[in-house]
Amino acid sequence: MKHALRNKIKERIAGLSREEKRRLSDEILSSIERLPEFKKAKNILLFWSLPDEVFTHDFLEKWHKQKCLLLPAVSGDELELRYYEGDEKLQAGAFGIREPQGKPFTEWDKIDMTLVPGVAFDCNQNRLGRGKGYYDRLLPKISGTKIGVCFPCQSVESVPCREWDVKMDFTVKK
Ligand code: ADP
Ligand code: MG
Repeated sequence: MKHALRNKIKERIAGLSREEKRRLSDEILSSIERLPEFKKAKNILLFWSLPDEVFTHDFLEKWHKQKCLLLPAVSGDELELRYYEGDEKLQAGAFGIREPQGKPFTEWDKIDMTLVPGVAFDCNQNRLGRGKGYYDRLLPKISGTKIGVCFPCQSVESVPCREWDVKMDFTVKK
């Protein structure tokens, strides 16, 4: 079930041009900037986007001097969190995703907001990831608002979910 939905959504994303993904990403991240939760937030966990995800690189560069921005780094089966201090400080990690170096941030209760990537989200705030469960293991440890971030074509009626799947507080898709 999850597998088939992942493939279906991946095909939909593949149908978006680079320009379209950039335009949608700008809209989505502008919506996030307007949220009261974002305005208030000090420590924000984001993700370094892959080509099929909402493009976060410019947003990280734009905000990292005003807010404390964190990125995940794969450490075995877990995600460590580290400060984003500019893209020149990033290095490819376990899945080829660029990650900050430096010491881990472990003040889980100080995180005000997390932008969570995903393959699909539904209207009950369920999330489908890439199938490795990293965010399902990370999110129960951290506080703050959990916001699913996706392109409109990743929003589906229902995501199959299991007892370990962590729900979002809400999603932003445009
Ligand atoms: P994703 O959320 O990335 O789409 P799944 O929800 O399918 O992936 O989870 C992938 C695997 O991760 C599952 O087989 C599950 O056993 C494991 N997993 C998820 N959450 C936890 C957890 N909190 N503790 C241990 N294993 C987990
Ligand atoms: Mg899951």
